Amino acid sequence: MTTPLHILQERFGYSGFRHEQETIITSVLAKKDNLVVMPTGGGKSICFQIPALLQEGLTIVVSPLIALMNDQVQALRQLDIPAGALHSHISSSGKNKIDQQISQGLLKLLYVSPESLLRPAFLEYLKNKSISLFAIDEAHCVSIWGNDFRPEYVKLKMLKEYFPQVPTIALTATADQATQADIVKQLQLSEPKVFLASFERHNIKTTASPGQKRMQQIVGFLRDHPDEPGIIYCLSRKSTEKVASHLQGLGFSCDAYHAGVDSHLRADLQLKFQSDELQIICATIAFGMGIDKPNIRWVIHYNMPKNIEGYYQEIGRGGRDGDPAEALLFYSWADFLNLQSFVDRSDAHETFKNVQRAKLERMWEFATAASCRTNLVLNYFGEYRNHKCNHCDNCISPPKLMDGTRHAQMALSAVIRCGESVGMNMLIDVLRGSYKQEVRAAGFDRIKTFGAGREIPFLDWKHYITQMINQGLLSIDFTDHSKLKRTPLGLPILKNEAKVHLTEFIAQRKSVKTQKAQTDLLPDDVDQGLMARLKSWRLDLARAQGLPAYVILTNKSLEQIAAHKPENATQLLNVDGIGQAKLTKYGDQILAIVAKDT
Ligand code: ADP
Repeated sequence: MTTPLHILQERFGYSGFRHEQETIITSVLAKKDNLVVMPTGGGKSICFQIPALLQEGLTIVVSPLIALMNDQVQALRQLDIPAGALHSHISSSGKNKIDQQISQGLLKLLYVSPESLLRPAFLEYLKNKSISLFAIDEAHCVSIWGNDFRPEYVKLKMLKEYFPQVPTIALTATADQATQADIVKQLQLSEPKVFLASFERHNIKTTASPGQKRMQQIVGFLRDHPDEPGIIYCLSRKSTEKVASHLQGLGFSCDAYHAGVDSHLRADLQLKFQSDELQIICATIAFGMGIDKPNIRWVIHYNMPKNIEGYYQEIGRGGRDGDPAEALLFYSWADFLNLQSFVDRSDAHETFKNVQRAKLERMWEFATAASCRTNLVLNYFGEYRNHKCNHCDNCISPPKLMDGTRHAQMALSAVIRCGESVGMNMLIDVLRGSYKQEVRAAGFDRIKTFGAGREIPFLDWKHYITQMINQGLLSIDFTDHSKLKRTPLGLPILKNEAKVHLTEFIAQRKSVKTQKAQTDLLPDDVDQGLMARLKSWRLDLARAQGLPAYVILTNKSLEQIAAHKPENATQLLNVDGIGQAKLTKYGDQILAIVAKDT
């Protein structure tokens, strides 16, 4: 009898299941409803792809993104798995072909957008077909508590009405507890089994830095990571272009990507990035959801994102192949205020806005945290724990604590003497004794604390005041132009009855390169000449078939070939990602390239 493990090895070319994949597959095969929350790169797809192959009938995969659908369909076809996609970009002849394949029972997996699936005529058509499973990918889109609500997803609740016997598996990489409960409710899952994989990505080193001189910091980082593919996320289209052109000017292989770029050019950029022809993409969040590229080595946030869900999803695009990757976040008070004004100005419902504001504040706490960042994220997602992760900056080089009582006293006193009528920047100007027009006009140059903290640089002050806010010694009045106000916790400090501990300001943390895991290949093991020849062979094939290079074979597979130099089919099957289908398609060619080399 064919087992899930047999399919994993024979078709996908992987030796064993990861984490809970096998238990999830067993539950799907038992016709239960399931909710799977697993980080990006965790291996969710196999949880419905393997059951699709083991069961009679068609598995329907709902996905919000055309690029992602196309990617997965191409990858499955490479494995000789009959898969197709239906969405607004498929031609009518393409649609007819899919209809035919479904009617003849030839298709195993159909990727479909919610709009295409929920057309009444299509639902009626499907009613007479044998459907084994609905897989709802990016299931958080169904919930307003999630970070990417899509109204068309809500209509998916119709599926349980039309097809009450067909089980559903909902999958997402980003759902806090409220979102998880909402997914179950909205999709009408019946007594679902919930699988919460750990959200920890051990191979991603996480660092956050104050955003001063960020361009300079980025250039330094890139010079430390030559030729490594990565994404720089910016908040605005304009800044993607600014950053890209600066880096191009310095000779980096880099381009800007945002919703305003011509769609052909966008597709071209994506293809080049995916095939390692373009090293760096500077993008708005429009880029990435459909990107399956496994060897992204770093993700930089040029600006602070608006919530932890988005941030974590974006950094999760790094290191999907399991090799070390880095996530570098820049943040500034200006980013925070900017994002806040987006929320304020939006015409969304006030309840929704309040959720967005709360999420933004959590993001700010994350950026300015002095303790383990992984814990902060995991606790946010309801995976409670408090041991050190050892792969974030705060664990690797803990910030030094100092006695900040005097700093806090100066700041608190200045806030009070300015009549609680100043924001952070003006407060620092007062503390540093600036004779700026606004300071003089308000008469703040005559208060007692004017210039009391002049020896402390501006950026250091920002760092300290941010911590005071996070510790509740000061609060920000968002209803009154973000002015700083006193709080009950500040009083004992002013009276010298309590002490304050602050972390020292470090302008730029050196990015510490994570070591390759012991089991991984070391650069020296890999024959670089052979690797280059394999890559160029793969690129020709990818171009000829119009596919991203990694769909043919991942870098990881190529590295293993270039290190172990297989001499026959059996040895080639030991390479990760090579199963029977790829062996048949490419085995002879690979063996010939290796043989020529030895
Ligand atoms: P997700 O959808 O959770 O982001 P994917 O399903 O795309 O992740 O899987 C990420 C990568 O890991 C893919 O390249 C996939 O083929 C690979 N993968 C999945 N399961 C395994 C496994 N058991 N062993 C090795 N690689 C795996």
